[in-house]
Amino acid sequence: MSGIDALPPLREVIASHGLSARKSLGQNFLLDLNLTAKIARMAGDIGNSDVLEIGPGPGGLTRGLLAEGARRVLAVEKDARCLPALEEIAAVYPGRLEIIHGDALDIDPAARLSPPIKIAANLPYNVGTELLVRWLTPEDWPPFWDSLTLMFQREVAERIVARPGSKAYGRLAVLAQWRSSAQIVLNLPPGAFTPPPKVSSAVVHLKSLDAPRFAAEPKALERVVARAFNQRRKMMRAALKGLAPDIEDRLIASGIKPTDRAETVGLEQFCALARNLG
Ligand code: SAM
Repeated sequence: MSGIDALPPLREVIASHGLSARKSLGQNFLLDLNLTAKIARMAGDIGNSDVLEIGPGPGGLTRGLLAEGARRVLAVEKDARCLPALEEIAAVYPGRLEIIHGDALDIDPAARLSPPIKIAANLPYNVGTELLVRWLTPEDWPPFWDSLTLMFQREVAERIVARPGSKAYGRLAVLAQWRSSAQIVLNLPPGAFTPPPKVSSAVVHLKSLDAPRFAAEPKALERVVARAFNQRRKMMRAALKGLAPDIEDRLIASGIKPTDRAETVGLEQFCALARNLG
């Protein structure tokens, strides 16, 4: 017995299925089942939820989510070598684990899940930010998920929760904080993973808001924020010059000094500017 279920310890799973870690797939595995159970608990009350997991790998977090009582887990894994190990977990939790072999960037999981839906993952570093941006910029609101519990490189986690005035503040902070409350709930050193990555990691928990924090048309906000931070060292009047001939007046009307730099402009002002330009 490994503690949370009757399955073998993860080191044995990795050895018996030949799951040597591949850098190209961002494979840094969590093998401590106490830790994966702790991360699963950070997803909140999952007892009546479907959980989407991206990149289950050998299944440490998957086992945590199931042991913590997730109604159903839909796990999307690109590496075919992991599938037999995941099938063994599915056999221990009949009808509760569905495994999809594929690229998370190509799959629309929402149709396969029933609300309430939570997303929990130790994300592969090469697609983590892209997936987060997709989840944060849906056409509809509220989104199909009600919370995200995600492991990132610490530097990315800091960008998600950053406040105006800090170096980490940028597009990711604005998009995340506009539509969710986001906080870092766990920091992990490289040694928590096998093999250890070069940098530290952190788990971020994002809880979706019922309505965006300030009114704005999503596409207009995304456009303004992308422009502003694309040239973050420039003053706002220069960075946004192409958006309107009278951009200085529009900035002032939105409570932004034309000489401000994007990293000092708050969420409320960005939303006011998006409304003004929209
Ligand atoms: N969840 C496992 C854990 O915590 O030990 C593995 C996490 S590892 C950081 C990332 C996982 O994502 C790997 O299993 C990798 O094969 C998988 N992966 C990489 N790119 C993927 C993609 N585009 N779609 C789905 N899975 C992917």
